[in-house]
Amino acid sequence: MIDDVSMAPTVVLLGPPGSGKGAQAERLRDERGFAVLATGDLLREARAAGNELGRRASDYIDRGDLVPDDLIVDVIRHALASCDSQPVTLDGFPRTVAQADALAGVLDDHGRELTAAILIDVPDDVVVERISGRHQERTDDRPETVRERLRVYHRATEPLVTYYEDRGLLRRVDGSPDVETVAAGIREALP
Ligand code: ADP
Repeated sequence: MIDDVSMAPTVVLLGPPGSGKGAQAERLRDERGFAVLATGDLLREARAAGNELGRRASDYIDRGDLVPDDLIVDVIRHALASCDSQPVTLDGFPRTVAQADALAGVLDDHGRELTAAILIDVPDDVVVERISGRHQERTDDRPETVRERLRVYHRATEPLVTYYEDRGLLRRVDGSPDVETVAAGIREALP
């Protein structure tokens, strides 16, 4: 059945800050009609709106720390509820094993199955160079906060590489080249 939600792809984009997850998510949206749920964007929007979620998340974001799992899982649960049978890309979620476990439950509740977790692989020195050269407009793009975000990535998020590898869902794409080349790698990983 074509509108069966379990047939709609659900893709996780994994990778360090500055790996280009946002740019690739945008392409999946524009070229393949994916709904994009970007937790960083959702949190920054909540902060700009001055709502309860934004207030609770604000200090964590500025420290380069992760917001508590329960807070972000709620955000994803609500956001997914409005995606109906659309294909979905998750950018910036999950970021901990607890979030990945919670995601499995949330997807199950929505009758969805994870299609793939795409790791956009970029070495740390490239990340630091990219963020210091490019988008310093974010409050968490100061060099010491970028280093903290990278530490948090390696400590809390990188274990998800093995997590999804163990489940046969991991696809690795080299994130070092330009956006178009990385997009081609993702197309190959996600036929
Ligand atoms: P980047 O991938 O460049 O680090 P994001 O825009 O994805 O940036 O996230 C910015 C900040 O938002 C994170 O440093 C963190 O504080 C918060 N955040 C986003 N997604 C999550 C998540 N899944 N769990 C916890 N915190 C998150």
